[in-house]
Parts: sequence; C-alpha cells; structure tokens
Amino acid sequence: MAKLIVKDVNVRGKRVLMRVDYNVPMEEKGGQMVINDSTRIKETLPTLRLLVEKGAKVILMAHLGRPDGKREPTMSLRPVSVKLAEMLGRPVQFSDETVGEVAEQQVAKLKEGDILLLENVRYHAEEEANDPAFSEKLARLGDVYVNDAFGAAHRAHSSTAGVAQAIVRNGGVAAGGLLMERELKFLGDELNQPARPFVVILGGAKVSDKIKVIDRLLEKADTILIGGAMAYTFKLAEGLSVGKSLVEPDKTEVAKAAVIKAKAKKVTFLIPSDNLIVDPVDTGKVNKKGRKIFDLTNPRVNAEKDIPANSEGVDIGPATAATFREHVLKAKTVLWNGPMGIFEDPRFAAGTNAVAQAVVDATTQNGAKTIIGGGDSVKAMNMAGFGDKVTFMSTGGGASLEYLEGKELPGVAALSNS
Ligand code: AMP
Repeated sequence: MAKLIVKDVNVRGKRVLMRVDYNVPMEEKGGQMVINDSTRIKETLPTLRLLVEKGAKVILMAHLGRPDGKREPTMSLRPVSVKLAEMLGRPVQFSDETVGEVAEQQVAKLKEGDILLLENVRYHAEEEANDPAFSEKLARLGDVYVNDAFGAAHRAHSSTAGVAQAIVRNGGVAAGGLLMERELKFLGDELNQPARPFVVILGGAKVSDKIKVIDRLLEKADTILIGGAMAYTFKLAEGLSVGKSLVEPDKTEVAKAAVIKAKAKKVTFLIPSDNLIVDPVDTGKVNKKGRKIFDLTNPRVNAEKDIPANSEGVDIGPATAATFREHVLKAKTVLWNGPMGIFEDPRFAAGTNAVAQAVVDATTQNGAKTIIGGGDSVKAMNMAGFGDKVTFMSTGGGASLEYLEGKELPGVAALSNS
C-alpha cells in the first residue's frame, strides 16, 4: 500500500512535527561540539523548504548519540540548530526541552514558516521504549506528523512510531517526507519491478548479516555477485580452503542453501575466483575491544580459488573485479551493498573501487538505474568522489538492510496510507 507523502498534505498554518535523522558525527574542539559531517542535515532541506513554502509551523525532533535517557551535554542538538539555520539561510529556533510545558509554549508561539528544533529525544528513556505516555506528550506538539528519518525507521520508538499513531488517533495524518519517499521508491518499488538484467553486488563482513537479503533478492535478481569476507563462507561451503580469512564456519549450510536456491531460480551466482591476500603477523597488541591486532603484511594476488593456510583474504582480485565489471555493465538495474574488501585500508580498496567505477559507468554509459544500499558502500562511493554519479544512495544502514529483506519497518508502517 502506498504511503501518504508530505507534498500531498495541506499543512498551511498547521503544526508539523517532523522526525529527522540529525545523528551527525561531532567532536569537541576548544570546549565546543563541532559537526564533522552535515550530510544528514542537508538531506532534510528539500522537505523543510517545501514545508516552509507551504506555510507550515515546523517542529523538528531527532536523536543524537546514545545518552541512555540522561541529559548528556555533549549530545545536545543545539549545535545542529545553528548549522541548520546556516544551511537553510533562515532562523531556526531551539527548545532545551523535548516535551512538556516549556516546549509546548515555544511551539504555541510559532508562526507560519517558522522552524523549531527540539532537544534530543533520547534524553528521555521513554523514547526508545516507545512509551505511550511519552508518545502522547510528543503528539501534543503537532497536528501533522512527518517522518523524513529513513535511517531510524527500523526502530519502533516514540518519535518514529508511537507519536505517529498518537497524532493519527487525535485526528491528524502521518506522512513520509521527500527523503523517505525517495528511499521507499528506490529500495522498494524500483527493486520490486526492476528493469532487467538486475545485477546485485553484495559484500561486507558477514553472511549472517545479509543472508535474508540474499534470500529475498534470489527471487528478484538475474545475477548476484558476492565479495567481501562474506565470500569466504561461500568458499568454505564449496569445500575450498580460506586460510586465516574472516569466515563464519557455522554458516556454511546457510550458504549452501543459497547456492542451491540460485541454481533452482536460474540466478547467476558468483563468488571471487581470485583474491588479494596478506600474511597476518601478530603484533602482540590488542584493540579497544580486546581483540588481537595483526599487521597485514606481504599483500599479493592469489590467482587460485583456495587461499593458502597462513594467509588471509582482504579484497577481491583483479580477475574477479573484471568479471564483476562485465556483469555490472550488462545491467539495467544495479543494487550494491557492502564493500569487496577491507576498503578502509587503501592497500585493500582496489576491488571496492573497481566495483564503484563499474556502477558509475553502468549509470552514465548505459543509463542503468544504480542503487547503493546504504552503509559502507555509500562511504566507499563518497571516498571515490562518486557520490553524485549514481541514481540513488540510501541514507539508511540497518534500516536499508531490513527494508531490502522485505521487512515492514515500524516507522514506515506507522505512516498513513495515501
Ligand atoms: P558490513 O558492515 O557487513 O557491510 O561490513 C563492512 C566491513 O566489512 C568493512 O569494515 C570491511 O573492512 C569489512 N570487510 C570486507 N571484506 C573483508 C575481508 N576480506 N576481511 C575482513 N573484513 C572485511
């Protein structure tokens, strides 16, 4: 069922309570919290401009970090209100309170086109508990609910779910913002009815994180290309050796089942034929999580499917990158989620960069619809300077994965039908 979108709602003179994703990376500099990356703020500007143009009174709510229900000063959203005002080119008011009398009074003073940002919803433990009384308190601040925080839509919290239901109970509507609309269109509709061939590239650390996505996409895709550490579990399932590579030995049955399903569905399912490997050397040190730190030495291409006993796979090899590129260039629809190797280290980023380049070329040369499904692949695209060269990059991490699994996200389910 299609969801109501804010552009189809009459908001003139109404109090629009909008959930946004302003969980931006911050760092303390000279006693002040400074925003390192304002992409998430930028993503909300189209909906905000629309609401201002339509004469709404806009009340923004968001979370920042994990203050666990306490007023943690380093996690205040106040610096975000300053940044937002700068980016919008108009004043943005700030409320030190999220709910209650003071916040309600500030809301009551708003005029058409005004914008007010509420303090971090997670200063209240009730937020993450989706507490009905807290949801009601939030609902007192708005006549219309808008959710433009796709990245938080997989959580059933007060600001993403409970308040939407409360506003609807009070006679209002709950609509998606323009960013939410794009996320649902590209990760939902476009992939449900993809132009063919539909090629999916999946990578990242674990099969267990993505098996449900693989299973669902086996129903839709023509080709699935697997890279990243995830590929080693598939290798193990095929009886190949993976040396010291990151692998999930208890997931080989799941991997086998996916390969059998691919055959039955006539989906081309490829794992790497070659890899970049290293020899890990124990440094005797441990990281913050208490895990041993290894020096990854002697990087070289291993043209065999088997990985030698003392080596570790850290990226796909050049032959695999070339094969993946051929498939991507035949596609009319491409979905990419997860890096092909430890791309954070430039020595092991070539495979991920090659896939990024192929996805860009499929877009520009062949007019393919190319969708980057969130998380580290978005990071990789941005690192390569390709951010604006694909059809769509999702702003969600966990939310994108759950949506791709075909799950109904609580923050989407709570929106009114159109
Ligand atoms: P995910 O969050 O599942 O998409 O996984 C992303 C992480 O997987 C990144 O931090 C990568 O460094 C890591 N990764 C990808 N390939 C490998 C590999 N071959 N060995 C170890 N880690 C990997």
